[in-house]
Amino acid sequence: MKLSPRATLIKPSPTLAVTAKAAALKAAGRDIVGFGAGEPDFDTPEHIKQAAVEAIRAGFTKYTPVGGIDDLKDAIIAKLIRDNGLAYGRPEIMVSCGAKHSLYNVAQVLFGDGDEVIVPAPYWVSYPDLVVLAGGTPVILPTEEKDGFKVRPEALRKAVTAKTKALILNSPSNPTGSAYTEAELKALAEVVLATGILVITDDIYEKILYDERKFANIVSVDGRLKDQAIVVNGVSKAYAMTGWRIGYAAGPREVIKAATDLQSQNTSNPTSIAQKASVAALNGDPSVVDAMVVEFQKRRDVIAAGLNAVPGVSCRLPEGAFYVFPNVEGLFGRAWRGKTLGSSTDVTEFLLEEANVAVVPGIAFGDDRFIRLSYATSMKNIEEGLRRFAKAVASLG
Ligand SMILES: *Cc1c(COP(=O)(O)O)cnc(C)c1O
Repeated sequence: MKLSPRATLIKPSPTLAVTAKAAALKAAGRDIVGFGAGEPDFDTPEHIKQAAVEAIRAGFTKYTPVGGIDDLKDAIIAKLIRDNGLAYGRPEIMVSCGAKHSLYNVAQVLFGDGDEVIVPAPYWVSYPDLVVLAGGTPVILPTEEKDGFKVRPEALRKAVTAKTKALILNSPSNPTGSAYTEAELKALAEVVLATGILVITDDIYEKILYDERKFANIVSVDGRLKDQAIVVNGVSKAYAMTGWRIGYAAGPREVIKAATDLQSQNTSNPTSIAQKASVAALNGDPSVVDAMVVEFQKRRDVIAAGLNAVPGVSCRLPEGAFYVFPNVEGLFGRAWRGKTLGSSTDVTEFLLEEANVAVVPGIAFGDDRFIRLSYATSMKNIEEGLRRFAKAVASLG
């Protein structure tokens, strides 16, 4: 059957593909240590589950308003004031089936033919595809490890053309784990203001920050940006709620209205029960998140130190999220099964075949010199995975 031209543009998410491949090998009996997962390994906190159970019992199981129930919009509004110092009203909020869905809807109503969207690399795998599917052109802006994988203001200014519509920022970042400081965001905000482009800030890892760092987003550090910014966030990563599918966008009323109208023609409202659970998450005790962050930080320290101990591998200590993004260029040129390792895909294949360790190649995130490991897995798996990693590298020719 002949598919539409749009269908030919779609690539499956490479991170989900690695997770699926590792799961298939495991199911076939191979003892795989997986570092592919992009989700917390903790259980959803009990009071959040309880709110969903109560919603079911109370018969809250029908369609809701397309862009979310008022209770949830109000919980989001309160959160944006409390955590970010940002004041939005209900018509400026859209609740979707995950932050990814909010990003998709926003991209569809903002980007069109000829629009360039600046995507700093390493980037989250979905950004370029979301832009392409909307008819726009992703303009990849490489960043350097020595700059903490952060965009320099001069580099941003140079990347802006007459066709530039927007910049997508993600801090803390998937895949690098790096997080911008207030001062760095202020400097970028000046460029955004001077050039008049839009900015989309994906704050999904806001709560997962280490060493007492304080979260900042570009709109909270420079309020003048509010009319040209969309803030995207959700409950997936902070509350271990990836399967519940609730995310949201806050931004100018006309953008939110158009995106919500689009949502009305595809999914309708996000799940009623999950919305009630998200109200409990956002209004509930914030210390449930702190406990997860303490555990993530211990794992970060172990996995970064373990990788740095492997000759040919160097790993920057991330500020947030639950990924490390080690540089594996030092392994290029080494021989394995008569082949020479020369790319992140080669290293990924070598680790899977030789060490039974599943990682994601950096090429999926726009940089072939790195690989990504998620440490949203037990300390036992991390230690075993590191042991296998080091042993396999030691066996290289
Ligand atoms: C996980 C992730 C998302 C998607 O979150 P959902 O709310 O589960 O759709 C968005 N952005 C980044 C950078 C992510 O890693």
